[in-house]
Amino acid sequence: MAKQLSGTWVRDQLLEELKPRVEELRRRARPPGLAVILAGNNPASQIYVRNKVKACQELGILSETHTPPEEVTTEELVALVETLNKREEIDGILVQMPLPAQVDASRVLLAVSPEKDVDGFHPLNMGYLLTGRPGPRACTPAGILELLRRYEIPIKGRRAVVLGRSDIVGKPMAVLLMHEHATVTICHSRTVNLAEEARRAEILVAAMGRPALVTGEFIQPGAVVIDVGINRITDRAEAVRIFGAESERVQAFDRTGSVLVGDVHPRDVEEKASAYTPVPGGVGPLTIAMLMVNTVEAAERRLGACSA
Ligand code: NDP
Repeated sequence: MAKQLSGTWVRDQLLEELKPRVEELRRRARPPGLAVILAGNNPASQIYVRNKVKACQELGILSETHTPPEEVTTEELVALVETLNKREEIDGILVQMPLPAQVDASRVLLAVSPEKDVDGFHPLNMGYLLTGRPGPRACTPAGILELLRRYEIPIKGRRAVVLGRSDIVGKPMAVLLMHEHATVTICHSRTVNLAEEARRAEILVAAMGRPALVTGEFIQPGAVVIDVGINRITDRAEAVRIFGAESERVQAFDRTGSVLVGDVHPRDVEEKASAYTPVPGGVGPLTIAMLMVNTVEAAERRLGACSA
C-alpha cells in the first residue's frame, strides 16, 4: 500500500519555523503585514481568505481584508492595489482569484509591487523564477517542493511529469522541478495520449482541475504522485464510482450533499504509487503555509533582516 504524504505535517513544521522569525521582526521593528483583496461574493474564495487570515493571526502577522463589491471595476482595484503598494506597514498584497468577470485580472496582478507580490505571480518574479534568481515563488508549487524535500524524495535525475500548464501551478512547478535537476515533461489539454506521457513519470504532479482523471493507467508502479486538484463533486453516482459505495467519503456525501476529490483517482493511486498526497490534507495546507513564508520573507527583505 502506498504511503500518504501529509501536507498538514509539513505545514506545521513550516509554521513552527516561522514563529521565531516573526518574533524577531516584531522585536526589531514591527510585525509583518499582509493585505488581502477579496472582490465579490465567491463562496470558495471567502473560505480560502478566512483560512489565510486565520493563519496570519496564529503567527502574529497583521492582516487586513479589503472586500470590494462584485461590480468593482479594474480601475478601482488597481487604485486599491496602488494605495496598498505605498503603505509602509504592508509587506504583502494578495489578490484572491478569481476576480469578477468584468475585471482584467492581469492588469490588477501587474499593479502589485513586485516586492509585495507574496503570490509570486508578477511577471518580474516569474522571470526571477525562470532564471533562478531569488524572489517569491508561487505558493502551491513551492509548497510541493518543500513536501518532497521533507519526505526526502529524491528529485535529481528523475523523470517528472506535470499535468497542467497554468501560470500559478503547472508552469512554476515544472520550472522548480527542472531547477532541482529533474527531467521534466509538461502536459496540457492538447497533449496526445496523456496517460502514456504520465506513465513515464517517477514523480507525477496532477494540476488540471479534472476530478479523478488520473486513473491507474496513468501511474507507473512505484511513482510518487502529487495531487493538486481540488474538485467538489455533487453527483452521488460519481462519488460512488470514485470512492466505492461502502466508503466513508460516500457516507460523508450523504450527510452533506458533496465531497472533495483531487485530480487523481484515490483508490487507483493507493494501489499503484509508492507515495501520494491525499485530498484533502495533501497540497492544500502547503499553499497557505508558503503564503506565510513569502509574507515573512517580504517583511525581512523590506526591513533589511534577510534570513539565510
Ligand atoms: P487552470 O484551469 O488554470 O489550469 C488547468 C490546466 O490543466 C491547463 O493547463 C489545462 O490545459 C490543463 N487541463 C485541463 N483539462 C485537461 C485535460 N483533460 N487533459 C490535460 N490537461 C488538462 O487550473 P489551476 O492550475 O489554477 O488549478 C488546477 C487545479 O488545482 C484545480 O483543481 C484547482 O482548484 C487546484 N488548485 C489547488 C491548490 C491547492 O492549494 N491545493 C492551489 C491552486 C489550484 P490548457 O492549458 O491546454 O487549457
